[in-house]
Amino acid sequence: MSAIYHATDMSLNADPSGDGGPAVLVIEDEPGIVDFLQRGLTAEGFAVQSATDGAEGERRALAENFDAIVLDLMLPGRSGMEILTSLHHAKPGVPVIVLTARGDVSDRVAGLEAGAVDYLVKPFSLAELIARVRAQLRVAAQTSSPTTLRCADIEVDLLSRRVRRDGATVLLSTTEFELLVYLIRHAGRVLSREQILSAVWGYQHDPTTNVVDVYIGYLRRKLRRPDAPAPIFTVRAVGYRLGYAAS
Ligand code: CA
Repeated sequence: MSAIYHATDMSLNADPSGDGGPAVLVIEDEPGIVDFLQRGLTAEGFAVQSATDGAEGERRALAENFDAIVLDLMLPGRSGMEILTSLHHAKPGVPVIVLTARGDVSDRVAGLEAGAVDYLVKPFSLAELIARVRAQLRVAAQTSSPTTLRCADIEVDLLSRRVRRDGATVLLSTTEFELLVYLIRHAGRVLSREQILSAVWGYQHDPTTNVVDVYIGYLRRKLRRPDAPAPIFTVRAVGYRLGYAAS
C-alpha cells in the first residue's frame, strides 16, 4: 500500500489476536470511513473490528482484547472523549489514536490529556494512520515487556544482558551493549552521531572523535549473519538508524 511505511519487518512482542496481525478496533460512525479503514488496515495485516456507535464501541473496547483502538470523537451513544476517559482508567496500556474532524488545538490537548496517545485530524492519509498505529504498537509492546527489547530478529534481555539475533547468542562488550540498547529503544528513527555520543558515552560532542562510527562498525560485525547484514543503516551526513531499510 505504501512504499514508505513498510514496517512489517518490525516484530511486535505481542500478538494476542492469534490470527496473524495485531487486533485493532475502529470506533467510527461514518460508514465511508469505517469501510476505508477496514479495507486499508486489513490489507496491511491487521485484524480489524469496528463499532459504529459510541456505547457499543466502549463496551467492546472494555470487554475484548485489542492491541490498539482508533477512535472518532463525535459519536452517537457515547462521545469519544467519554470512551477515552473510561478506557484510560480501565486499560491504560492500550494505545488509542483519536480521529476527528475538529482540528482545534484545545480538542487535541483535551484528547491527549484524556489518554489518547496520538491524534489525526480528518482528512488523513491511510499511510499516516497505519504508521501511527504501528508506532504506538511498538511503544506499547516495549512498555509491556520492559526487560526484553526486540527489533526484527534482534532480541536484547536487559536483565541477563543477553543479546540474540535470529536465536543465536551474540557476545557484546559493555559499550557495544549500551549502544545496541540505545539504538533499539529508538528503532526506526534517525539518530545523529551527537545524540548517540551523549546518550551512550555521556559527554558532549567532540568533533574530532570517531568513536561512534568505530563502535557501530563493531556492532555491525557482531550482529552480521551469513545471509543477513546487521540492520544498522548509515544515514548520510546525519548518523544511523536501526531497523528500517536504508534511504
Ligand atoms: Ca463521527
